[in-house]
Amino acid sequence: MANQLFIRNGILLTMAEDSSVIENGSLLVEDGEIRALGPAGSIPMPARARVIDAAGCVVMPGLVNCHTHLPMSLFRGLADDLPLDVWLFEHIFPAEAEQITPASVRKWARHSCEELLLSGTTCCCDGYFYGDGVAEAALLSGIRMVAGQGVIDFPAPGVPDPKQNVAAAVEFVRRWTGRSSLIMPSIFCHSPYTCSQATLVTARQAARDLNVLFQIHVAETGAETTKIPRCGDRSVVRYLDDLGIIDDTCLLVHCVWIDEADMAIIKKRGAGVAHCAESNMKLAAGIAPVPGMMDAGITLGLGTDGSASNNNLDLFQEMDMVSKLHKAACADPGVLAARKVVTLATLGGARALGLDRKIGSLTRGKRADIILVNLGKPHLVPVYDPFASLVHGAKGSDVTHVIVDGRMVVENGELTGPDRS
Ligand SMILES: [Zn+2]
Repeated sequence: MANQLFIRNGILLTMAEDSSVIENGSLLVEDGEIRALGPAGSIPMPARARVIDAAGCVVMPGLVNCHTHLPMSLFRGLADDLPLDVWLFEHIFPAEAEQITPASVRKWARHSCEELLLSGTTCCCDGYFYGDGVAEAALLSGIRMVAGQGVIDFPAPGVPDPKQNVAAAVEFVRRWTGRSSLIMPSIFCHSPYTCSQATLVTARQAARDLNVLFQIHVAETGAETTKIPRCGDRSVVRYLDDLGIIDDTCLLVHCVWIDEADMAIIKKRGAGVAHCAESNMKLAAGIAPVPGMMDAGITLGLGTDGSASNNNLDLFQEMDMVSKLHKAACADPGVLAARKVVTLATLGGARALGLDRKIGSLTRGKRADIILVNLGKPHLVPVYDPFASLVHGAKGSDVTHVIVDGRMVVENGELTGPDRS
């Protein structure tokens, strides 16, 4: 007997290529896959299907958070109001050396997965150490995850000898390849200023050989080039491209300090970019040229970054901030309209992670990563444009139901994940 879920009476925001909206729609999930969707009455309701009445709700693809460090929720609010260098080297790295253990990674990654699911994120792309603990937490929570094992050229949690950093990441990828359809292992080089050329090239080649996503923080601050030996007067993007790092299985995180020539390289290579507006604002890193990247046709998704630099994982709040930040920066209210921002947080993110054939839109044949958002709450009434309501009004706490791969993991705002059912 097929496992069926039938959602009816909702406003379907498909976020598919045509970005169609179905005012009163139904959607059928069967064995974890979206089998049919359309206006009310167009899809027969199977007699044995579990039925969700979505009256008053938006039904949309689950949000995709393209950049997180989940265990760092442990450091939420630890060292606020500091520049990136001071924050990272004087507070975060020492705190990690002291407090990060396999047990704390598992505990705080799990905590973060719950925060993500409760606020409507069904897929995230993480990069951290003790990657096994993060991936295990994801499995237990039921979220979909690209799980990256960190690579850095100094002793790191779980990798005391930096000479073993790439080997440890390769072993992690091998352990997790094929273990669960929801967990996609990955290699995450911290940055061009904490990884040598040799480390970058070796890790990049390993990710290619293993056919997994390669992630790296890039051009987060204006001073980054001065911290990279042998970068010279090249931009960070040019430096990485000269090393052969950038291609279409590469996720470049931040890209705040890039120019048009850099954008041309990123577009030509087909790399994805994770835009983390709130983290960039909080650390005063700068404002990424998002409208320019969109004009250049760069694949772009949104990320919250870790909770130590945000300080939450709520992509609804991030969407609101992204829209308003770039309107203000460009002195143009037409920049990053709500529908565009929702696209970045769904299909855009899925594309940036190379997962758009599986997720990112309500499309027949894709996996069923779906959320319901209650538009009936006082702060969301009335609704003239559901996209505007989602971006400028909704909060993560307005999400009522979350489905990942056809499995209900949040119901009526409460977690019901695999180890709870
Ligand atoms: Zn980060």
